[in-house]
Amino acid sequence: MADLRIKEIAQLIAPLRVTPGASVRLAHDFDPGYRAGFVRKRDGEALLHRGVELLSEYQARLAAQQCHGLLVVLQALDAGGKDGTIKHVMSGVNPQGVTVHSFKVPSAAELGHDYLWRYACNLPGRGEIGIFNRSHYEEVLVVRVHPENLDRQRLPAGARDGGIWRRRFHEINDWERYLTDNGFRVVKMLLNISKDEQLRRFMKRLDRPDKNWKFSAADIKERQYWDDYQSAFSQMLSHTSTSWAPWYVIPADHKWFARICASAVIVAALSELDPQFPKLSKAARQELAVARKALEGEGDH
Ligand code: ATP
Ligand code: MG
Repeated sequence: MADLRIKEIAQLIAPLRVTPGASVRLAHDFDPGYRAGFVRKRDGEALLHRGVELLSEYQARLAAQQCHGLLVVLQALDAGGKDGTIKHVMSGVNPQGVTVHSFKVPSAAELGHDYLWRYACNLPGRGEIGIFNRSHYEEVLVVRVHPENLDRQRLPAGARDGGIWRRRFHEINDWERYLTDNGFRVVKMLLNISKDEQLRRFMKRLDRPDKNWKFSAADIKERQYWDDYQSAFSQMLSHTSTSWAPWYVIPADHKWFARICASAVIVAALSELDPQFPKLSKAARQELAVARKALEGEGDH
């Protein structure tokens, strides 16, 4: 039964995976409105429910085994749905085994270190799922679109010379390879919304009092850089989708479908890790038998 579900999940996410080495043009290659044949939210509910259920099962084993960790990287433009995705996808998991870290404009202390430092400081431990709400990929996205961010990083002259983005892509790939080799699986998702859908979501934030708090004038300003971001995303996907940490482009115009896909991608990664409850040694089992006898003996007094 579980195998059947995993197969179904693998089929669903296959078209979302960025083939390592492929040259990606985001707007051309990935449709933000894609729904894999599902028409309405209701059609996908059972699948999301199954995804959440499986995630909970795998997380329990991951935590018990204390060997692997899982890093989930979420990138999106403003109003792309990162927060809602985290809330829904992780709804069934034990909060003790999950950390979420949101990366904002770097602090002075963070800028006093190399650019990957703050991300390394917030990685999940063995047995944990860590979610990066924005991530080290901001270093080749917002920093690239707004080069004044790079000025603030106070790099030595040589480190800024031509080819900095290519170099960063290599460094990030190497870092993720290192994490993977040491037991930390990296799962990367770009929530891909269309420009029209972003506009609709911004308008909703203006129209609805319960959404007003989400409105930010800075987001409207950032929207003017839409094309620059699309190009930075395309470059990022082309250069950092690797066999050990491939990118998945999640169609995000339909929130409910994005959630199904995100949960499917995480479940697929966990199913590959296939964490197991630890098996007890003979000596440990004998210890359990002794403990059982002692507890059962309590009733005799
Ligand atoms: P939400 O708006 O849903 O609360 P958010 O992730 O957009 O979530 P904000 O506080 O609105 O959070 O924005 C964080 C800002 O920090 C973003 O504009 C992002 O581009 C910026 N940021 C993140 N990492 C870096 C970085 N390394 N250098 C410069 N800016 C960064
Ligand atoms: Mg924001």
